[in-house]
Amino acid sequence: MSASVLIVEDEPELNRMISDFLAARGYRASSVFDGPAALRAVFEHPPDIVVLDLNLPALGGLEVARTITSETDIPIIVTTARGEEEDRLEGFRSGVDDYLVKPFSLPELAARIEAILRRATRPTGTRGGDELADGPPVVAGPLRLDQARREAFVHGKPVSLTAVQFAILMRMARSPGRVFTRLQLLESFQDHAFDGYERTIDVHIKNIRRRIEADPHHPRILETVRGVGYRVVGGRT
Ligand code: CA
Repeated sequence: MSASVLIVEDEPELNRMISDFLAARGYRASSVFDGPAALRAVFEHPPDIVVLDLNLPALGGLEVARTITSETDIPIIVTTARGEEEDRLEGFRSGVDDYLVKPFSLPELAARIEAILRRATRPTGTRGGDELADGPPVVAGPLRLDQARREAFVHGKPVSLTAVQFAILMRMARSPGRVFTRLQLLESFQDHAFDGYERTIDVHIKNIRRRIEADPHHPRILETVRGVGYRVVGGRT
């Protein structure tokens, strides 16, 4: 399946040029024109990568970048006008993955996207809380999680998880069978969970399942408990 790219750019002509170019390269490109629409799109249909203009109406690009990077693992390439050097630094602090100065060449943008998507399959180890104490590995069903080394295994085979995914899974695996609400899971990687963002957990759960489940659409390890939340299956194997 081709990778999906969300283009956040308020200049309609530029947005269309990027979108057409990426579509011609085989990407599934979708376009939004302001910050609020970008966040809705990210949480409702998480793309594989976001191309984000810094200078946006309604909600600034940095704010959008912060929200995306604090709540998802979706990589971001920021685009910005020349002379916004301070924004550039600020942008990197909020965890964006790459940065292009306008006017940029479309092939260059495509090259950066490809590079990041190749990289995205590796563990990042840079995001999310590590507030859980070290200790012996936690075992739940076919899962084994080693907090000290931050390594995860399913049926003895290593799987790569980002820091946030690891924190969420660890929270559940420490209490196999117990059901966690989305809000409780949010709290496993951010200090202050806030209303309205519980759905972002669904994005993380989907990403975790892609990595630990043989068939992510029929999960056997990380179960949905309808109307309540999620749980990791109990018992040892
Ligand atoms: Ca703009």
